[in-house]
Amino acid sequence: MLVVQELQAKIADKEILKGVNLEVPAGEIHVIMGPNGVGKSTLGHVLMGHKSYERTAGRILLDGTDITEMDTAERAKAGLFLAFQYPVSIPGLRVSEYLRNLYCLRHNVQVGVAEFRKILRDKLEMLSIDRSALSRYLNDGFSGGEMKRLEMLQLSLIKPKVAILDEIDSGVDVDAQKTVAEAIKKIRESDGTSFVIITHYQRLLNFVNPDKVHVVLDGKVSRSGDMSLVHALEREGYEWVRQATDGSIANSAH
Ligand code: ADP
Ligand code: MG
Repeated sequence: MLVVQELQAKIADKEILKGVNLEVPAGEIHVIMGPNGVGKSTLGHVLMGHKSYERTAGRILLDGTDITEMDTAERAKAGLFLAFQYPVSIPGLRVSEYLRNLYCLRHNVQVGVAEFRKILRDKLEMLSIDRSALSRYLNDGFSGGEMKRLEMLQLSLIKPKVAILDEIDSGVDVDAQKTVAEAIKKIRESDGTSFVIITHYQRLLNFVNPDKVHVVLDGKVSRSGDMSLVHALEREGYEWVRQATDGSIANSAH
C-alpha cells in the first residue's frame, strides 16, 4: 500500500534521511522507532510533502500511484494522512465546523449540521471525546490527550489508505493511550487502513500488536523485525542495534 524507495531528504541544508526503504502492505500496522533527532518526524513530513523539507532522492508510492511529485493536498486526496506530533491550535476555528468541512471536502458531499452529528456520534464514543469539545476552538487549550484523540477523530472521518501517526502516544496518560490503541485497531478492521506508528514507547505497541517494527538509525531503516525487536531494544538500547547491524554481533544475541 505504501512503498518508500531510497528516500533521501534535507532540512536547512542538513542531510537527515539517507536512503529510507519501507513497505507497508494494506491493513498492516508498522512501527518506526529510533532515538531522538534521528529523523522520524522528518520522514513523516517528507512522506506528506511538507515544503520545508527537501527531498533529494527516492520515490514514494501509494496504492500503486507514484505520489513523489504531488503536493500535500494531492497526497491527502490520494489517501495519505499524517497525525502531527505537535498539532497546531487555531483560535477562532470551531472544532465542529472544522471537522464537518474536512468531512465534506474529503468525501465530496454536502452534509448538514444535524446529519453530521449522527456521523460523529459513534466516533466520539469510540474515542471517549466529550461532545463539549466540538464547540471549542481547534486544539486551543486542549490537553495532550485531547489533542491526540482529536487527531484520531480526524483520521476516522477522513478514512485514509495510509495513516502516519507521529508520537500519538507522547504526553498522554495511559487511558488515552489505550483509547488510541483501540481506535487504531477498530479503524484498521473497519476501513482496512494501513498504519505507520512513530513512537518511543512499548506500551502503545503492547496494546496494538503491530505486524512489523523498523528501527531508524543514521538516516536509514537499519533493522526490521517483530515485537521481539521492541523488547530487545527495551533491554539493550539503540547502540545494540547499531552494533548488531554493523555485523559485529549479528543475530546471535537474540
Ligand atoms: P525525530 O522525530 O526522530 O526526533 P526530527 O525528524 O524531528 O527527529 O529531526 C531530525 C533532525 O532534523 C534533528 O537533528 C533536528 O534538529 C533537525 N530538524 C528538524 N526540523 C528542523 C528545522 N525546521 N530546521 C532545522 N533542523 C531541523
Ligand atoms: Mg519527532
